[in-house]
Amino acid sequence: MQKKKVVILGGGLAGLSAATALSQSEEFEITVIERAPMAGGCTSSWRDHRDADKSEIQYPMHMIFPTLYVNFLHLLKFIALTRHVNLAANLTPKFDRFFFFNENNRKSSLALSPLTKKLPAPLHGLKILWDFDGCGFFDKISTLRFFLFCLRQGGKDIPPASDQYNFYGFCKKLGMTEEAVKAMARITYSITNLPPSEQVGPKFAKLFYEVILSHSDALGYQMINDDYTPGLIAPWVIFLKNSGVRFMFEHEVAGICHNGKCKVSGITATNHNEGLRGEGLRFICTNCGLRFHNVTAKIHCPKCGLILGYIPPPHPSPKFLEADYVVSCLQPHQLAEIILADEHHPLRQFDYFRKLGKYKGASLTISRMWLDKKYTFEDNLTGLDRHYFSFNGIMDISNIMPRYAEQSVFDTLSDDGDALKMWSTETLKQKLIKDMRRVFPETLSAAVTKHLLAHIWPRVLYHKAAPEISSLYRPKSQQSPVDNLVLAGDWISTLEIGMEGAVRSGLDAANILLRKEGQPVWPIFRPERGLLPGWLENTRT
Ligand SMILES: Cc1cc2nc3c(=O)[nH]c(=O)nc-3n(C[C@H](O)[C@H](O)[C@H](O)COP(=O)(O)OP(=O)(O)OC[C@H]3O[C@@H](n4cnc5c(N)ncnc54)[C@H](O)[C@@H]3O)c2cc1C
Repeated sequence: MQKKKVVILGGGLAGLSAATALSQSEEFEITVIERAPMAGGCTSSWRDHRDADKSEIQYPMHMIFPTLYVNFLHLLKFIALTRHVNLAANLTPKFDRFFFFNENNRKSSLALSPLTKKLPAPLHGLKILWDFDGCGFFDKISTLRFFLFCLRQGGKDIPPASDQYNFYGFCKKLGMTEEAVKAMARITYSITNLPPSEQVGPKFAKLFYEVILSHSDALGYQMINDDYTPGLIAPWVIFLKNSGVRFMFEHEVAGICHNGKCKVSGITATNHNEGLRGEGLRFICTNCGLRFHNVTAKIHCPKCGLILGYIPPPHPSPKFLEADYVVSCLQPHQLAEIILADEHHPLRQFDYFRKLGKYKGASLTISRMWLDKKYTFEDNLTGLDRHYFSFNGIMDISNIMPRYAEQSVFDTLSDDGDALKMWSTETLKQKLIKDMRRVFPETLSAAVTKHLLAHIWPRVLYHKAAPEISSLYRPKSQQSPVDNLVLAGDWISTLEIGMEGAVRSGLDAANILLRKEGQPVWPIFRPERGLLPGWLENTRT
């Protein structure tokens, strides 16, 4: 029997997850198209032209909450068992503490003490609150209302668009003090990865419940470390290749072809390397969007140093790939860009796709600094107030990146990259160093020996800032109005966030196809009270 051709657009976590679930069936011939030279999408690495040695900055700042990230962890376990990948090498041991830092340079922490762990949930939540030193007694009492609200709303599944009020709205409704609201904003931003404006009513309460209140060990989180891309993503790709999945790296999806009826017939993709040696070819950087001419075989954007996308020669020859099914695992603005490229694209007739035009990319800046003295801080400092700092997270990564264990290396992350673009690179570096010294005064006497900086530009990242975007424009179903076109990606997942959202949406998209073909579906796990099987620790060698 002829296999059904599935083309997956984008090799981020959503694309890899969809490919994994589909590859377990014999029914499909799967191709993943990825414009970057490697898989992983937002969890991979970046480099910037301003760094003399062109080193890449990888992404340590990815937190995984075991109670919430159940599908992600089960999927990793599946890959690990099959390919004998050492999971422990890719994820750090558990962290039980968050640090915060306010505008007055005051540090506070939310921690899970050994005693707290012994208390049954959700009582342990009260103890965490009691131990929290970020606000006063009366502020804590008003914060209690917040906890109770989350407990009441928390465990329930909620319909996608139940968007009654946002974070500040319900804090006000609960009558919380100003200090308590500020403290909770810092905490929840760090833990849910969602800015206050995106923390919409019940959705936010559910996340907060699952991350903090559902289990007495729930605050404990792990981070991906520098082995993650070579150690996990690369073997994952090999596993998929061995399962028959075809990868087309450095190919950019240019068009989604339609048969005029309610069916996609295939996609077109341009090869970044095609015609590389041709004189005067024009290229476009996939990271910063710079357009320029290049004649050398090795192309790096002169502005930001990334591998480039390709502007086709005057008579473009994008490759056509026939597809029975297309699974788009692109970010919404990336998909919109493809549809927008064709003025008469039939998908434009659907409100479902027109809404994608509302999504915007985000600018993000990350920096890595090396000091000439060795310090050890156990801090994952987040929730910094952006009015007072140039970044919103800083940490001593020697804790989580084995190759830096002997050095002092700090990573900072700022999701307000647009504002930071206003500074010259040198000024920005000085500001970041100053901020680091404010947060870690011990480092005042140390010199910065090396400083990498990478700006990640809107074409690459999706921003989930506005609540009306999350609820009004997010499609209610991953099944698009076009029968054989299914959407996935963290942005479309209504309940989960970040990596778990991406993985879950990829698996859900695969299940839509598997159901259509009458195939057994991939199991989807839901976070449950008490679900902390400890298997991750058991996989350690
Ligand atoms: C700095 C940072 C920190 C984060 N921290 C956390 C965290 O602590 N915890 C957490 O859970 N999540 C975190 N996230 C979010 C998490 O990384 C993302 O939610 C997740 O990786 C998104 O996966 P995705 O597959 O949906 O999208 P992406 O990873 O964006 O994948 C989309 C893929 O499509 C490709 N693509 C785009 N356009 C085209 C085209 N035209 N043709 C071909 N390919 C194309 C892209 O190159 C990319 O590989 C963080 C993200 C960032 C950037």
